[in-house]
Amino acid sequence: MPATSMDELVSLCKRRGFIFPGSDIYGGLQGTYDYGPLGIELKNNLKAAWWRAMVYERDDVEGLDASILTHRLVLRHSGHEATFTDPMVDCRNCKSRWRADQLKDNKCEKCGSTDLTEPRPFNLMFKTAVGPIAEEGSFAYLRPETAQGIFTNFKNVVDATSRRLPFGIAQIGKAFRNEITPRNFIFRVREFEQMELEFFVQPGTDDEWHSQWVEARLQWWRDQGLLSENLQAYHQAGDELAHYAKATVDILYQFPHGLEELEGIANRTDFDLGSHTRGQADLGLSAKVDPNEDSTAKLTIPHPETQKPLVPFVIEPSAGVDRGVLAILTEAFTKETLENGSERIVLKLKPHLAPIKVAVLPLARNKPEIVEKAKAIKSLLMATGIGRIFYEDTGNIGKGYRRHDEVGTPFCVTVDFDTLGRGDDASLLDTVTVRDRDTMSQVRIHINELASYIRERLV
Ligand code: ATP
Repeated sequence: MPATSMDELVSLCKRRGFIFPGSDIYGGLQGTYDYGPLGIELKNNLKAAWWRAMVYERDDVEGLDASILTHRLVLRHSGHEATFTDPMVDCRNCKSRWRADQLKDNKCEKCGSTDLTEPRPFNLMFKTAVGPIAEEGSFAYLRPETAQGIFTNFKNVVDATSRRLPFGIAQIGKAFRNEITPRNFIFRVREFEQMELEFFVQPGTDDEWHSQWVEARLQWWRDQGLLSENLQAYHQAGDELAHYAKATVDILYQFPHGLEELEGIANRTDFDLGSHTRGQADLGLSAKVDPNEDSTAKLTIPHPETQKPLVPFVIEPSAGVDRGVLAILTEAFTKETLENGSERIVLKLKPHLAPIKVAVLPLARNKPEIVEKAKAIKSLLMATGIGRIFYEDTGNIGKGYRRHDEVGTPFCVTVDFDTLGRGDDASLLDTVTVRDRDTMSQVRIHINELASYIRERLV
């Protein structure tokens, strides 16, 4: 059974070192979270799985890592200065502020008053001073989405790679939004990471590509362990669409706090490349205003048939890394009652996402031969390149198993006196016990077969 309560997840994450509140020792900074020793591994594994699927396994996508600090004009011409807002209301009674479209029955969530101001638009972008003199106009924005860095580098990438339509540019990185009411753990935060692909296509083929990407993305989330029954594709209605979108399909997931957006797949048409081209023309950086008429216009690519300059349409699958981590933790969290009546918490993570792939546990930490053997086994497993192998000599095997169940380690390998040939059965020399996280079954395996046994089950 997946986690049904956010509190259980928050508590596991803190206890085992996945996720901590940001600036915790000073009382926390709302809307920020820090990833701990295991959280960073899980997050990196999720990002690596996305990069593999979106860049390495395809022949039509390139990668990019653009800067977070963004020129004001980029976000003016993208439409974010004018329209990247949420409706905000003030409670006249207790002076708290809320996002109007998230309030139930138009009531203040703190004091229950209905005496609220009229909603007014609140821009979600963070500004920061650039350079040593903070004067009016010397500011830049922290990007509110990674996408704009892709659009502004469109021509650079096309020129450097000679790509032709259809092709995409993928990016993973931080984005910042001054959310009015951050909430639900890492679901809605002010600093988060996105995994975004901008896939450029010929106008007219955009609807077909949009449907294909929705299917591909749903399948990818299933491959990360999310069950179909907890996923839903939601087609946004016209009045819900962002300023740049012709159509958007949200992938919703059944989070502990409700069915909510995990990823959005938008048809952004030629909105962004078109507006940046016009933006440059306005500034005299390119000769003419209509990009499709102008061979010197910047953000174009040859039409696949006519070879005339064309501003392509773009399909954008945009997923939140943090929401992905939350969904995966929710799905993997399992509470089981064992035969002896005790309770076991186990994170049934897909092996490729598990922070630790194998824990190597010496039965006794004060026996140098066992410690040495265990360390040699760690090295042997490391050489397979399957990810993090954890050597842990706390000496208490039972506790070690429970701890590794809770953090989702697929296998524990125990080294004991039999491994050294010192037990009753001499035939056990150079064998170890391998315990499986999900079934809790234990098998005795010769060290020579260990790497292939584990690799077969992990990869
Ligand atoms: P919402 O409607 O929940 O505010 P959005 O539609 O504004 O989200 P997009 O602009 O489509 O979100 O951003 C793409 C993805 O980035 C989202 O699907 C989500 O996974 C992630 N994301 C957006 N805002 C946040 C946030 N404040 N905290 C964490 N992740 C976010």
